[in-house]
Amino acid sequence: MKAIRVHQFGGPEVMRVEDAPDVKPGSGQVVVRVHAAGVNPVDTYIRTGTYAVKPALPYTPGMDAAGVVETIGEGVTNVVSGDRVYVFTTLSGAYAERALCNASRVYPLPDRITYAQGAALGVPYGTAYRALMQRARAVPGEVVFVHGASGGVGIAAVQIARAAGLTVIGTGGTEEGRRLVAEQGAHHVLDHHDPDYLKKAVDLTNGRGVDVIVEMLANVNLGKDLPILARGGRVVVVGSRGPVEINPRDTMSRDAAIVGMTLLNAPDPELAGIHAAIRAGLETRAFRPIVRTELPLSDAPRAHEMVMAPGAYGKIVLVP
Ligand code: NAP
Repeated sequence: MKAIRVHQFGGPEVMRVEDAPDVKPGSGQVVVRVHAAGVNPVDTYIRTGTYAVKPALPYTPGMDAAGVVETIGEGVTNVVSGDRVYVFTTLSGAYAERALCNASRVYPLPDRITYAQGAALGVPYGTAYRALMQRARAVPGEVVFVHGASGGVGIAAVQIARAAGLTVIGTGGTEEGRRLVAEQGAHHVLDHHDPDYLKKAVDLTNGRGVDVIVEMLANVNLGKDLPILARGGRVVVVGSRGPVEINPRDTMSRDAAIVGMTLLNAPDPELAGIHAAIRAGLETRAFRPIVRTELPLSDAPRAHEMVMAPGAYGKIVLVP
């Protein structure tokens, strides 16, 4: 089968399409014929070889995919061959024609949801749901500030928060991105390059501050996030690309909390909750993954450059 193979860690150019060995399901495993693979920023960190997750070489990148179950191993009862599914984490890599997966990480994909949209579910919606609902424990009526709302996780957070009865303030760095954030249900949209945008966020709450911040770039924003929190406010650190200075007093005066999270830490019961919520959100049409572009597998290097560049607009997907 065709797959992206990485033989040495490095820049985007280390990803090349090659013939990779075919995959066969063992006990409790399935093989999915991949119709779309999601490109996540974490795929680029892993590719450099400097991230906590360091696969044995050669490896095939990618955690998110959607497609059709081709073969199932012994003891698999949750899916049958021919089922449309989305996948959150694979055993063999998602940037490929086929992916070997644990059956427990394969979830039904409603007919109405395209494969490209299905490839935008696992990491983005899983992360946004866990950040908002499981780590920040947001409740209806609260105000959430999605700091970086125009990308994969941000769009998901906006839709999830809106469906849960929160007041949503989202930010985007481009006019196109901000329009998308508004279309996806944010009550208010701000430009994170506007020097006054944090004051504007507080003004939108009549000076009270926001209850929850979903933070996509903590190394730039965490120190500025704390002063805009309401009493009892929580910042969930979803993304960070370096260190940052904060004033701890900004947490004390507000009884505020800074909460970290990594989706891969989610224990099985939390994952089950996440995917039950995704299923319900897809069925009720509250969750509508936005696909920015679909690229051929051979364009994986370009996709990695795009996902790290400013101007996010939903999800980038590779089509094997
Ligand atoms: P993405 O699609 O590339 O989106 C990145 C977002 O960050 C865009 O909305 C972008 O807005 C925004 N951004 C850029 N500069 C910003 C600034 N100065 N202040 C606030 N926001 C800014 O990436 P993603 O898939 O949504 O992931 C977002 C982050 O979360 C990444 O760092 C990723 O590594 C991390 N992440 C973590 C987990 C976890 O388990 N903890 C899981 C998934 C993702 P513009 O482009 O419009 O400026």
